[in-house]
Amino acid sequence: MTRPRILALAELKPQDMADRLAADYRVIRDIGDAADVEAVLTAGNIGLSGAQMARLPALRLIAVNGVGVDAVDLAEARRRGIAVTTTPDVLSLAVAEMALGLALAAGRRIAEGDRFVRAGQWSSGGKLGLGLSLLERRAGILGYGRIGRRLADLLRGMGMEVLYTARHEKPDTPDGFRPDALALARDCALLFVTAAGGEDTRGLVDADVLAALGSAGILVNVARGPVVDAGALAAALDAGAIAGAGLDVFDDEPNVPQALLDAPNCVLTPHIGSATAEARRAMAQLVLDNIAAYFAGRPLPTPYEAWHALPLHR
Ligand code: NAP
Repeated sequence: MTRPRILALAELKPQDMADRLAADYRVIRDIGDAADVEAVLTAGNIGLSGAQMARLPALRLIAVNGVGVDAVDLAEARRRGIAVTTTPDVLSLAVAEMALGLALAAGRRIAEGDRFVRAGQWSSGGKLGLGLSLLERRAGILGYGRIGRRLADLLRGMGMEVLYTARHEKPDTPDGFRPDALALARDCALLFVTAAGGEDTRGLVDADVLAALGSAGILVNVARGPVVDAGALAAALDAGAIAGAGLDVFDDEPNVPQALLDAPNCVLTPHIGSATAEARRAMAQLVLDNIAAYFAGRPLPTPYEAWHALPLHR
């Protein structure tokens, strides 16, 4: 039997997972050569635009290697009955770990301390100054979904009190609800952003929220860049309106605004929240499972929305 052709706009990692994909499918990389392909493999930060979908008349499945679908034109996919799958849950621990790492790095000045030692400032008699203790604080989580709740479990496990906000209050949690980002920021000193991306959440963390977090406050964003107003954040860091920030995601990746690059109290990482060997392997397995289910006419294991939870008829 001839192997189906799929268009891969993203890589699977580790390499043996990419090899498995190549063993089962004829993987093409050029959208100009993909008019007959039924399945696209993409990543959360790459997505698939409506203009790209228009070049793929046979498209029936968009398999996202990640959970963010803000870069996929969902309305167009829904209109054409194209299924979208993601890799939920299996990356939540990795991203929660990253959020914790960024918080500690910002509050305890770990990245700054590393630069300080390497630059010879310690050996030449310099002193870095004091950091802020984090684990004695009340934490706030903006976006209480799979990642936010996993993070809340870790924080509670370390003895922290946790508050959260989301679109809807959750009945099944020990953590306290606040109705919006402002109310949350007023009541915590360590604010984690783990909300979905997209237009609904654009600029949820603005100058008012940062002012409410306060001059001892730490902000961590592992969700999507646009959820935080980067200009307001740079101004707040510069003015000391908040104490520090840890950012894994940005508006225009891989470009980072100069004002954030210049801020010593801001820890920056290159969108690596899910980039552990363990999480990437589990994500790749889910991608392979979804593509295999599609070509076998079986129900998709992890459809993004229920409208395409049923088997697709080829
Ligand atoms: P999820 O389970 O869908 O959770 C999303 C949460 O966002 C939900 O709690 C939802 O509220 C909340 N939300 C949506 N719109 C909101 C609004 N307008 N105001 C307040 N809260 C809102 O998603 P997830 O798997 O936890 O992923 C969370 C985020 O992490 C996404 O942005 C994703 O792209 C990002 N991510 C980043 C990395 C990385 O490498 N840094 C890796 C993976 C994922 P309800 O619960 O009330 O619906």
